Amino acid sequence: MSHVSVRQLLKNFDGKPPTVAVDHLDLEIEDGEFLVLLGPSGCGKTTTLRCLAGLEQPVGGTISLGDQVVFDADRGLNLTPDKRFIGMVFQSYALWPHMSVRKNIAYPLKSRKMTQELRGGRVEETAALVDCERLLDRLPAELSGGQQQRVALARGLVARPDLVLFDEPLSNLDARLRDQVRAELHDLHQRNPFTAVFVTHDQSEALALGTRMAIMNAGRIVQIGTPREVFEEPVDEYVAGFTGMSNRLSCEYVDGRWYALGTELIGAEPRAAAGTSEFVLRLRPEKVRLIGDASGLRAGEAGIAVNVDDVEFGGLHLDVMLSSTAPDSRRRELHARVSTYDRSRAPRTVERGDRM
Ligand code: ADP
Ligand code: MG
Repeated sequence: MSHVSVRQLLKNFDGKPPTVAVDHLDLEIEDGEFLVLLGPSGCGKTTTLRCLAGLEQPVGGTISLGDQVVFDADRGLNLTPDKRFIGMVFQSYALWPHMSVRKNIAYPLKSRKMTQELRGGRVEETAALVDCERLLDRLPAELSGGQQQRVALARGLVARPDLVLFDEPLSNLDARLRDQVRAELHDLHQRNPFTAVFVTHDQSEALALGTRMAIMNAGRIVQIGTPREVFEEPVDEYVAGFTGMSNRLSCEYVDGRWYALGTELIGAEPRAAAGTSEFVLRLRPEKVRLIGDASGLRAGEAGIAVNVDDVEFGGLHLDVMLSSTAPDSRRRELHARVSTYDRSRAPRTVERGDRM
């Protein structure tokens, strides 16, 4: 386990047009921390991991693992991957097909030149940690996807590296298995902390796994904090959109009344100063409450009249697409997600064509 320090990391690719994949990125990871890097496809997550692993030669900056500087552009220092004590788990399990599970898991120990005696015990122990000790003598082709991913996990952890890198390791698993392996990974880290950087484009994965999460955009980290901090207080519109605040309501205050989606906001407090002002409100679908009419408004709430355009049944929730009843014809949409159990959040029935 080790503290990791990345300063002003810069990596670009030649090409037409040239790309700045990692743009002066700063990142400090504490010993034993499970840091999740979250961002859309193409924002530079994989390139950042590859620079940490030594698989990519950055153009600028420094990378330190514990007390060791592994990359320093100014000093022309770039340790090869085998000189960095790092474990890796990727989206494609990349197990050696001709080797047994035992040999696959033991592989990183061989390159670390551990004694046979120590190696044997370590493989069994790590296999038990990820619940695949019964699979040791099988070949990868004889395993299910979830089992293969567990083996890949064991291989990443077996040498107790300073740092474990995960590049979207769960995205090839089907939904149920993904939840299961995610929970196991979380539990494993709680029981045996190790320093990790886990890359994903999946918000729920980031929230569930990260001791902290970093949101990336265009090669930079735009916000870093605990999942709760980032979820509750996104620093800008980009992070807000990325953490599920998918509704974007332009609001304005004109002559003593508030308007949103082009119709009057009923029940909103008047402002002290008159005049016109505008702002954009970001709102989670889960925060929208559906009521039959304005008499259902509670203290502190404001409402707008909407039409129900579509209702999708999602099991535990309903996704309701609403549009504004504004007199001009531009459709302005709002997404509400209401619990199918908590009736305080929606009337008994919600159907396409309803007006609320
Ligand atoms: P992510 O993992 O977040 O999807 P990547 O790190 O793979 O993003 O890519 C970041 C940017 O760098 C993208 O614009 C991608 O096209 C570009 N890129 C990545 N690898 C290469 C490469 N080997 N050659 C050229 N461009 C690359
Ligand atoms: Mg990637």
